[in-house]
Amino acid sequence: MSDGEVHPETIAAHGGRAVDAETGAVVPPLHASTTYARDENYQPKLRENYVRSGSPNLWQLEETLARLEQGAEARLFASGMAASSTLFETIPQGAHVVAPKVMYYGTRDWLRRLESLGRIRLTLFDPKKPGDLQASITDGTDLVWIETPLNPTWDVIDIAAAAQAAHARGALLAVDATVSAAVTTRPLTLGADIVFHSATKYLNGHSDVLAGALVTREKNARWEQIGKLRTMQGTPLAPQEAWLLLRGLRTLFVRYRAASANALAIARHFENHPKIEAVLYPGLESHPGHAVALRQMTDGFSGMLSLLIRGGFDEARNFCTRLRTVTPATSLGGVETLAEHRKTVEGPHSPVPDNLVRVSVGIENVADLIADIEQALAQV
Ligand SMILES: *Cc1c(COP(=O)(O)O)cnc(C)c1O
Repeated sequence: MSDGEVHPETIAAHGGRAVDAETGAVVPPLHASTTYARDENYQPKLRENYVRSGSPNLWQLEETLARLEQGAEARLFASGMAASSTLFETIPQGAHVVAPKVMYYGTRDWLRRLESLGRIRLTLFDPKKPGDLQASITDGTDLVWIETPLNPTWDVIDIAAAAQAAHARGALLAVDATVSAAVTTRPLTLGADIVFHSATKYLNGHSDVLAGALVTREKNARWEQIGKLRTMQGTPLAPQEAWLLLRGLRTLFVRYRAASANALAIARHFENHPKIEAVLYPGLESHPGHAVALRQMTDGFSGMLSLLIRGGFDEARNFCTRLRTVTPATSLGGVETLAEHRKTVEGPHSPVPDNLVRVSVGIENVADLIADIEQALAQV
């Protein structure tokens, strides 16, 4: 740590700054203004003078996140999809993209759409097949997009190995680290070029803000272009949302650690349950990605796990309807536990198993969660 630099927990708890320089406020003032006056020399007072280009609450949030990720700069967007699709805009016409077969389905569907329009060439690799990621990258590959752990099987991709393979062919590595928040993994320090977050999830943590983030290892021409595109498309995170997200971010470390501890306890409890075919969680010794996860997730394996319910589509769906303490809802990374039957959500063409229930474990008392899952299983 450099002189005067503090630990990441402290950076987060202070929201980047202990007090507001102008007023001494411990909570940053909300600057809702869409426009900022010029000074007596007719110069802009701030870096930007119109909210579509940026605003003070957004900048404070971006500076805080960049420090947590040890990146050069962060940019926040109106949603995760706005952030990823802006990065995809910078792919040269006709260039090659590599991404996993199973991943967040919105991102996969967007990449497929770009492929069908002839905008990109796309190779989807099998994350379960060793070497398939490396074999999919060619000299014409512009971007390698990975997600780890992978939604909703929680397979783990080795970020350092992916970076090496991408860079050997001159490609960029972007990592969707929504589930491995900066508490446990810092992809830029492992060689990634860009980190992506659906900040809607762990970074905010309270299921009340929609936001996305990109963080870059270095400022370069492509990063400049991403900033310009965000301004032109009008997709920066709005001031109120940035202010609220910064509040959520202050408790990131305690929330993430508590959710990880609860998830590990649930995974261990149900691993050999007669109504459960398998528990998918990278924190379990039985998980195929456990060795890489141990190296790469140094402070918790997240609150995300999947239960394969014995039976099939109907049993898994019925299980979700029997839960009482756990809420049957989509999304993840909040303080409350949510469960979701992914096949119902993703549709019949999804490669996700019929009997998979994704659980976003929150920070409740874990005994209550275990008891609820037990009673729901007893009814299927
Ligand atoms: C939710 C999510 C996204 C999309 O983000 P939004 O904020 O919903 O637009 C992308 N990747 C992962 C892993 C997600 O969970």
